[in-house]
Amino acid sequence: MLIAIRREPRPERRVAVTPRGVKALTDAGHDVAVPSGAGDGAAIPDDAFTAAGARIAEPGDPDLLLGVGPLTADDTSGASAVLGFLDPLGSPHQIERLAAAGTTALALEMVPRTTQAQAMDALSSQATALGYAGALLAATELPRFFPMMMTAAGTIAPARVLVLGAGVAGLQAIATARRLGAVVAAYDIRPAAREQVESLGADFVGGPVADEAQMEGGYAREVSEETRRQQQQALAEAVAAADAVITTAAVPGRRAPVLVSLGMVDTMKPGALVIDLAAATGGNCEVTSPGTTVERNGVRVMGPLHLVSTVAGHASDMLGRNITALVTHLWESGELDTSTEIGAAVCVARGGEITSDAVRSALEAGG
Ligand code: NAD
Repeated sequence: MLIAIRREPRPERRVAVTPRGVKALTDAGHDVAVPSGAGDGAAIPDDAFTAAGARIAEPGDPDLLLGVGPLTADDTSGASAVLGFLDPLGSPHQIERLAAAGTTALALEMVPRTTQAQAMDALSSQATALGYAGALLAATELPRFFPMMMTAAGTIAPARVLVLGAGVAGLQAIATARRLGAVVAAYDIRPAAREQVESLGADFVGGPVADEAQMEGGYAREVSEETRRQQQQALAEAVAAADAVITTAAVPGRRAPVLVSLGMVDTMKPGALVIDLAAATGGNCEVTSPGTTVERNGVRVMGPLHLVSTVAGHASDMLGRNITALVTHLWESGELDTSTEIGAAVCVARGGEITSDAVRSALEAGG
């Protein structure tokens, strides 16, 4: 089939598939079209795509369009099927539009968290890149060193980093901050996170943990107002002591939980930072303004929206592997097969209909 790779509009710098993935697709007999410059943001020249067997060409009307996204019906006209981040639970109306246009919609967000689907888990690979980039941003923005240093000019105390939400992004932020020598503490609502945090050499901050907070697949549920109050009480001291707070807490299909209140930001030291990696879904800090930096009494609250693009090369490589593994699985028989567990989960629109209960529920909930 004709597979086209999208040239993402800036500020996105990732590309959905890198030459390694293109080679896998052309070896499998597909015709792959890559628009000129599609890899520029990730430092991949057109030549590298042609060497992998692609044609440098505009997408035309492909059988399958591969993009980073979030892709909407406006981005995909002419394609029979589209695969990428489609934000199916956050923007279910876009899925409705894709269905109305007769486009088959395959959403990376819906890849199940099973052993078989691990190679296709793009949320995890991109969260890894995000956590890494978040810790580096904290290290470069903080007007202090991360590591302890004993120098002729005196002994420098290590930076104190607090990571809130210890899923894939949070664990990578912890590991990266630790490698840079910071003293790290972390918190997550899921009790299973404690052991993972401690195995990375960070302290687990006491706070409410709840077995029922964990759903199938490892994701968290929304917590009650009472739990939220308890969390803020338990975290207050750790936030006040931190030089940098990196927040990553998320609940699929919901607004990000607010863990750091305005009052808590006002207890932080001048020069301290909040790096809110959940800014795209509203943010974990009450002060966060997505896409900008807010300064309050010398404390900066940053809500970056395109941080993964700072590591676009490796992030694209990982994403490309996830996408090609998924395409290989879905088209194993030569035709698109959405009857497998993975196929049924990722296919959110086909044959003019929305085919996902989760998307239908999101629409009914007014999403
Ligand atoms: P996510 O991005 O949806 O959320 C990030 C973190 O925020 C999660 O750890 C969550 O527990 C936490 N969180 C949510 N609400 C919170 C609150 N009110 N207070 C504090 N923390 C809160 O999650 P994720 O990083 O994509 O994954 C979470 C889990 O899924 C991890 O345990 C991970 O190991 C598991 N996982 C499993 C597989 C697999 O089995 N194949 C793959 C990837 C991840």
